[in-house]
Amino acid sequence: MSDTSGLDAIFRPKSIAIVGASRTKGSIGRNILHNLIEYEFNGPVFPINPKANVIHSIKCYPTVDSVPDEVDLAIIVVPKELAPEALEQCGKKGIKGIIMITAGFKEVGGKGVEREQELARIIKKYGMRMVGPNCMGVINSDPEYKLDATFAPTFPTPGNVGFLSQSGALGAAILEHASDLNLGISMFVSVGNKLDISGNDIIQYWAEDERTRVILLYLESFGNPRKFTQLAREIVKKKPIIAVKSGRTIAGAKAASSHTGALAGMDVGTHALFEQCGVLRVNTVERLFDLAQAFSKQPIPKGKRVAVLTNAGGPGIMATDAVVSVGLEMATLSDESIAQLREFLSPEASFANPLDMIASANEVTYGKSLEILLADKGVDAVIVIFVHPVAVDARGIADSIIKASQKQNEKPVLCVFMGKKHEDSGIQELQVAGLPTYFFPESAAIALASMEKYHRIKNRKVGEVVLFENVRKNEAKRIFDKALSEGRERLTDLEVFQVLNAYGIRMPRFILVNSLEETVRVTEQQNYPVVLKLISPNVVHKSDVGGVILDIRNESELVRGYMRLQENLAKLPNPLDHYQVMIQEMATGGKELIMGISYDPSFGHLIMFGLGGVYVEYLKDVNFRIYPLTDLDAREMVTTLKGHKLLEGVRGEKGVNIDAIVETLERLSQLVGDFPIIREMDINPFMAFPEGEECMALDARIIIASMEKGKTKSVRNSVAKKSPPTTKDGKLEK
Ligand code: ADP
Ligand code: MG
Repeated sequence: MSDTSGLDAIFRPKSIAIVGASRTKGSIGRNILHNLIEYEFNGPVFPINPKANVIHSIKCYPTVDSVPDEVDLAIIVVPKELAPEALEQCGKKGIKGIIMITAGFKEVGGKGVEREQELARIIKKYGMRMVGPNCMGVINSDPEYKLDATFAPTFPTPGNVGFLSQSGALGAAILEHASDLNLGISMFVSVGNKLDISGNDIIQYWAEDERTRVILLYLESFGNPRKFTQLAREIVKKKPIIAVKSGRTIAGAKAASSHTGALAGMDVGTHALFEQCGVLRVNTVERLFDLAQAFSKQPIPKGKRVAVLTNAGGPGIMATDAVVSVGLEMATLSDESIAQLREFLSPEASFANPLDMIASANEVTYGKSLEILLADKGVDAVIVIFVHPVAVDARGIADSIIKASQKQNEKPVLCVFMGKKHEDSGIQELQVAGLPTYFFPESAAIALASMEKYHRIKNRKVGEVVLFENVRKNEAKRIFDKALSEGRERLTDLEVFQVLNAYGIRMPRFILVNSLEETVRVTEQQNYPVVLKLISPNVVHKSDVGGVILDIRNESELVRGYMRLQENLAKLPNPLDHYQVMIQEMATGGKELIMGISYDPSFGHLIMFGLGGVYVEYLKDVNFRIYPLTDLDAREMVTTLKGHKLLEGVRGEKGVNIDAIVETLERLSQLVGDFPIIREMDINPFMAFPEGEECMALDARIIIASMEKGKTKSVRNSVAKKSPPTTKDGKLEK
């Protein structure tokens, strides 16, 4: 559970002891002391070292116990063998906050694990809070504290960005880069092994910190993804969270027998989690900074319409391409704006969007044009591009951009200055003044797109988990129980159909036959066209063995179809001891989709939806979300597919019944909530028909966790608790 109590002792201490402070230049124990003093920590600092009287011109104490004053925070840098004892001493002294820089614990395995447990025990005993071990420290740039408790060589510029790094080594590089970009930090923490204070604790702490307006995360793993989801959902309504997540989850790692499992691979769990809770994800640290600059310094745009102001045609086109490719739109400038621009711009300029002022653009025209673009009601954001022609004062241009942009605070302005950052490039001035500045238009467009996405996240409704009343849970339970008692992991096709039916997921009508004679007897009762399918516990992919015969149009074709199926079976290397044949009504005129469920040990159940048919594993146009689905999640799964236009209808084609798809996804979510023993499930194909018509599952399979693994109970309990679900018709289903 996340807990922010006691974190003030770490981020807002009034006095600090450095246990293991050192005289040796370049050592961590010396650098930390140096940083605290150089950054002018607003309280007394007590170096602790039994072998020195003075360190860095400051009186040194042999033990924390001998410090006469109260100490809020101890930074421990002693060798790992001495760490538990040092911690114990701090506990006895009544110190409440600990930063354990020392490494050599869980991360090295073996004895290290034991040592870490020892630390845990001591912390608990004294009710202390601890960052680390194996970390780089923390920073709070608040003038009231001025705390730089790291050994990094760079001092951060104060600002509004909270930065959490799971990697200590990367932390130092990150601080340096932030400083290069004039990106102001409110707080920084390298969380290390997260023995006590977790990433979740920190983001909750920052959610309430007024100085922190943007939260950046460099994550390698999730401690408690469910808790993260809960917290993040709420925090992003107040401030953006931008995350780089490295590493992958193991969903679907064991080559799954279902499509859903195979598609799950990679890191869909993380992706789903971020999408559901509205965390903005980037793939590289570089992008993290691109976004951080924009979010920390500029207002959030209220729409997608971008104006591009440039002094060169090529970059203007690049920017246009970038804007469109990230899903933003090029604004249409108003006639009024264009008339105003014509009054002072060279007639050779291009009076459209991009607004190309050509190379003769100067300080005056940049400033005036930017003001006009920002005032245009059809513009939500502006990208200003400047390519440095000789004999133009870039700093003057930068200055006029700053002035024009600061006349308002509604619309973001992002700059692209194509040239190296040097004294006269104007870039430094822009960044200091709060104008994010990029080298390439693509970076600006990507940052802007994330801001626009954040605008939508912030304003989106909170979804609701809906439960349907008209499901027959007990009927499904009997089926799962039977499979469990027989030690089966796979439900039979018939059982799967019964489960779907019990949860209100429709299928085409079918009957099962056992022989040619039986087939002949039923030919007259069929609604042609029909499909023949081989049903056998030993066959998973029916078409692979010639077990599906489509488009049977009449009685004689049906009989011949049955015989062909038998011929196909005869060709199998191992004859099937038991099989039946399903005569199923053929569904025509629909779109083939796929839905499914997979299970990830850290995220729980994932529900999938995507475009299906023969290309499913090639196109991989699928979305995953974590159980439980809200109505909003379910809809987003459909509307955010790359190929969602195919569902909405293209080229005069009618769109499909999206509401029915959304409802089926919600029903799947309810099903897996009721039966967490489901490990994999596929509905492939799920066929969607035009609006007003029902959708259908044509084929499905379900794999459950077998008894001996005994996971059933714990999985169920670990399911995320969300706002109490409502039923479709108001009453709560039990
Ligand atoms: P399997 O996936 O085991 O090979 P399916 O039952 O999914 O078997 O059938 C294979 C393909 O045949 C489906 O993906 C679908 O394209 C088509 N198909 C199956 N059943 C029907 C049906 N009732 N109506 C229309 N097409 C069908
Ligand atoms: Mg299939």
